[in-house]
Amino acid sequence: MKKVAVIGGGIIGLCSAYYLAKEGYEVSVFDESDMNNGCSYGNAGMIVPSHIIPLAQPGMIAQGIKWMFDSRSPFYVKPRLSKDLINWGMQFYKHANLRHVENAMPALRDLSLLSKELYQDFAKENNSFFYEEKGLLMLYKSDKVGEEMHHEGKEAERLGLEVDYLSKSEVALLEKGTNTNVIGGVHYKSDAHLYPQKFMAFIKQELSRLKVEIHSQTSVKDFVLEGNKIEKIVTDKGLFRTDEVVLASGSWSPFLAKKLNISISILPGKGYSFTLKDKSQKPSIPSILCEGKVAVTPMANDIRFGGTMEITHTKDNKINANRLQGIINSINDFYPDMKVEMPKTEDTWFGFRPCTPSGMPIIARDKKIVNLTLATGHAMMGLSLAPATGKIITEIISGKPTSVAIDRFQI
Ligand SMILES: Cc1cc2nc3c(=O)[nH]c(=O)nc-3n(C[C@H](O)[C@H](O)[C@H](O)COP(=O)(O)OP(=O)(O)OC[C@H]3O[C@@H](n4cnc5c(N)ncnc54)[C@H](O)[C@@H]3O)c2cc1C
Repeated sequence: MKKVAVIGGGIIGLCSAYYLAKEGYEVSVFDESDMNNGCSYGNAGMIVPSHIIPLAQPGMIAQGIKWMFDSRSPFYVKPRLSKDLINWGMQFYKHANLRHVENAMPALRDLSLLSKELYQDFAKENNSFFYEEKGLLMLYKSDKVGEEMHHEGKEAERLGLEVDYLSKSEVALLEKGTNTNVIGGVHYKSDAHLYPQKFMAFIKQELSRLKVEIHSQTSVKDFVLEGNKIEKIVTDKGLFRTDEVVLASGSWSPFLAKKLNISISILPGKGYSFTLKDKSQKPSIPSILCEGKVAVTPMANDIRFGGTMEITHTKDNKINANRLQGIINSINDFYPDMKVEMPKTEDTWFGFRPCTPSGMPIIARDKKIVNLTLATGHAMMGLSLAPATGKIITEIISGKPTSVAIDRFQI
């Protein structure tokens, strides 16, 4: 039986391991962390076929520059003299146009819808992770943002998604959990949500049932090549022979790719979240508070708030109080009865979204190294797209036709 080494035990690595093991491969997962608090755990848990417009889009550069001068803004690029950042910025600029968005939208929709179907299958098996289909509500407070949301809604409808446009009173009828201070909302009925920590626990259990070997606290340092094939992976716990390698190490993927002379442009987009436990009064529908770009997700008895996108580096472990305050202000502004206070530092989680400059994930067979497959760069949609990515990675390695077209997901 062929051995596959999956590097990275976030949601992309674990979902890849799951479908590979089900296909009959002998799978090992390597992760340098203890695999319980990374980007795949504290995220907002939204499954978002609605998110068909990539971050690299017209208007984003101008908006981004405006936000850079506001310490509480939801988007920020930490300025520094770095070749990687300059290269990323240039590529982002190149992609921020209508043609790219037009090409990206159907590809992202198909990947997302496949992923949602796969989540439905998991939930049928054992919904220990609180998968629910309540859609996603884009709430707004200004006419200008409302117009943008309507425009995006129409684009989604054009691609076959079901969208409702709600007035202030219609929002109140749908969102019965707490009062909302908005002028309207756009409801994407296609979307779903789950409790990320509980899904990670579920998939780990599945992997154990499928006899996948998990090597946590094992850092991959390098590779032993024979010609254009990886023979062994080199870790701080020794060498492991393998037939195939899946690179799924999120924001850290460029460092490992460099060891193989492969250049991948990915920078971490740092985001924060905090979770209020057993809150009786809380929003019942997953929502984005559009002006503040805050994600709000009910998860079982809890409620999670997440936001900000700081394009930074993987050593940036500080919590920026101003940006966190920006999230709190938005919550109290949109939900006047919630009265949410600034969380303590120890209750604030952060994670690094692996962001490509095109806003597109990379799901690809490498062109030079014959037994390397890349599964990374899922930015703000990694949870949403993980099962589909895992399935496609398995199809690529097995030499089967892929369930959806992947030509838009190449490096
Ligand atoms: C605030 C916030 C909210 C979000 N909300 C959503 C949402 O609602 N919906 C959604 O779809 N997505 C959301 N995301 C994005 C989502 O969380 C990410 O896209 C996803 O977790 C990325 O998964 P990954 O497996 O690629 O990376 P990670 O989860 O970062 O996993 C990569 C793993 O690789 C390991 N690794 C790195 N280098 C090495 C090495 N050398 N050797 C061994 N192991 C290594 C790391 O330890 C890590 O565990 C959100 C993110 C944030 C920050």
